[in-house]
Amino acid sequence: MQAELTSKDLSTFGFLGYPVLQAADIIMYKAYGVPVGVDQLPHVELTREIARRFNFLYKEVFPVPEPLLTSVPKLLGIDGRKMSKSYDNSIYLSDRGKELHQKVAAMFTDPQRMRKKDPGNPEICNVFTFHGLYSPKETVAEINKACRVAGIGCIECKKMLAARIEEALAPVHERMDYYLSHLQDIHYIFSVGNGRATKIARRTMEEVREAVKV
Ligand code: SF4
Repeated sequence: MQAELTSKDLSTFGFLGYPVLQAADIIMYKAYGVPVGVDQLPHVELTREIARRFNFLYKEVFPVPEPLLTSVPKLLGIDGRKMSKSYDNSIYLSDRGKELHQKVAAMFTDPQRMRKKDPGNPEICNVFTFHGLYSPKETVAEINKACRVAGIGCIECKKMLAARIEEALAPVHERMDYYLSHLQDIHYIFSVGNGRATKIARRTMEEVREAVKV
C-alpha cells in the first residue's frame, strides 16, 4: 500500500486542485443534487465536506449537495473493467446499428461459462446487468432463470440486449439527428444555459466575497 502511494506523485497540485475544481463546479451553481455513478461518490462527499466547511467557517452560502444515484448505479465497460474513454470499452449513447451490435457481441460474460451447455451465473455477468437497465422486468426474470440452466446462449442473450438498447436509445438518436442538422438550435440552447449559469455564479460569488470579507 505504501509503495502504491509513493509511486504516485501525491505532492502535485492536481491531487488537491482537481477535486476542488470539481467541487467549485457543483457548488458555484448551488446544486442540490448531483447525478453520479457509485465511483464518483467520494468526489461528491469531498464536495459536501467543502460546502459544509465553508458554511461553518464563514456563512451559510452553499447547499450541501446530495448524490443522485439511479437504480443501476454502476455499469462496467464491455471488457468488464470500469467504463472509460481511455480503455476504449464504452457503449456511447450515440452508438447504433452495426457498431452497437458489435460492441454488445464483444461484451464479457460469466467467465465460468465456456460452452452453451454450461449453466451460467447472471449475477457475475455484465450483459445481465445491462439487461437490468434496458429490458422489461419479465425478460430479465426469464434470462435470470434460463441462464442458470443453460436454457439460453450468450449469443442470443446479447442479441436481445443489443435490440433493447437500440430501442431504448431510438428517441435519443432521433433528437441527435435533429440537432445535428439544426446547429443553430444547439447554439441557442448553449447561450441561454450559459446566461442562466453565469447569473447564478455571479450571485454566488458576491455572497462568497461578502462572507469572507474580500
Ligand atoms: S446467457 Fe446472458 S446472462 Fe447468462 S452468462 Fe450469457 S450473456 Fe450472461
